[in-house]
Amino acid sequence: MKISKEWTKIFSKNSIRILKIEETLLKGFSYYNSIRMTWFLARPDALRVLKDPKLTRALGRYFDVFQDKKWAKFMIAKRIEASFDGSEDLNDLWSLHEEVTAKYFETEELLDSGRLRLEDLPKPKCSYLDLKAEIAHRILQSCHFCERRCMVNRQRGELGFCQCGTTFLLSSAFHHLGEEPELVPSGTIFSIGCNLTCIHCQNWTISQRFEAGDPLTSRKLAQLIESLRKSGARNINMVGGSPTPWLHAWIEAFRYVETNVPTVWNSNSYYSPETARILMGFIDVYLLDYKYGSNLCAEAISSAPGYVEACQRNHLLALKSGELIIRILLLPEHQDCCAKPILEWIAKNLGPWVRVNLMDQYRPHWRAFERAELRRPLRAEEYSEALSYARSLGLENLA
Ligand code: SF4
Repeated sequence: MKISKEWTKIFSKNSIRILKIEETLLKGFSYYNSIRMTWFLARPDALRVLKDPKLTRALGRYFDVFQDKKWAKFMIAKRIEASFDGSEDLNDLWSLHEEVTAKYFETEELLDSGRLRLEDLPKPKCSYLDLKAEIAHRILQSCHFCERRCMVNRQRGELGFCQCGTTFLLSSAFHHLGEEPELVPSGTIFSIGCNLTCIHCQNWTISQRFEAGDPLTSRKLAQLIESLRKSGARNINMVGGSPTPWLHAWIEAFRYVETNVPTVWNSNSYYSPETARILMGFIDVYLLDYKYGSNLCAEAISSAPGYVEACQRNHLLALKSGELIIRILLLPEHQDCCAKPILEWIAKNLGPWVRVNLMDQYRPHWRAFERAELRRPLRAEEYSEALSYARSLGLENLA
């Protein structure tokens, strides 16, 4: 990932990454034109991966969607009927969701195989995506979007651990050239706030709300999504902080998006089973962190009790309902407690072809000095050891 780091530095230095929505919406903005014309010079690997059989095996549907050969899941979800009028209680809505989810996957298969055309499906009065939006808004009244299950009523102004309200807060949006090659250029939208407090967080000013962010309505967020796609993004990469506290806003925004674009859920994996169900039939690519192999480390570094179980559950579901890229940020001196058990679990439960990015770029940020082992960058030999171990377990698809 040498190129990625170089580009991240260049972007930060020039403050190009801080593109506010007003700028983004200006069609023909010269930065976008230059990105559209030249990104492959910076990341030729992003073109090469399209022909890599390992990548095609792991992310074939995603490749087809960003090349407009197949439909993004949210586009299909809009055409699946879900009959409800808002008077139902949450349990009834979940029952309906389960029923319609089965119908969704049948329809996706018919569309993917060419036995059905999206144009032939009438637009329903209430869709599967509308149903997801309704459920997400109900959850806000007793928030359990993530594993913390604060159960606060965010619609009445109560705040939980993440301190997020109801209105989406934008930090920045841009074509990210530093992501995995298959994602570049990635239409990345950074939101404010997070449900974890990782003491080494590199985005701590965003995740821990030292930045205020710009409030955005769902329609404006939809315009931003359209604009990123139309100016050349392969996907929409929802990140923060964490996208989880803003699930309601993401779903609502995609109700207004009319352009085919794959959705990427770029998450710390600490989300609830309910959120995982809402993501089914909405997310094309799950870009999931697998941060810790031990709950002791998760609690000490990220204040995340039960992280390992939530993370494993969400990885399994992600692979069932979409395509998956796993990110493992290697931490100094966390080989035996974290890196190795993580790799073992992946090899055993997700198979050799799952895409795994072993990340070597750890640097101390924010409160990392609080733990002795986190005060230094990762050593080259620590990365090599993890890489060799991954290979010895038979993992074939390493980024
Ligand atoms: S998203 Fe998570 S941390 Fe935030 S209020 Fe909801 S349950 Fe709590």
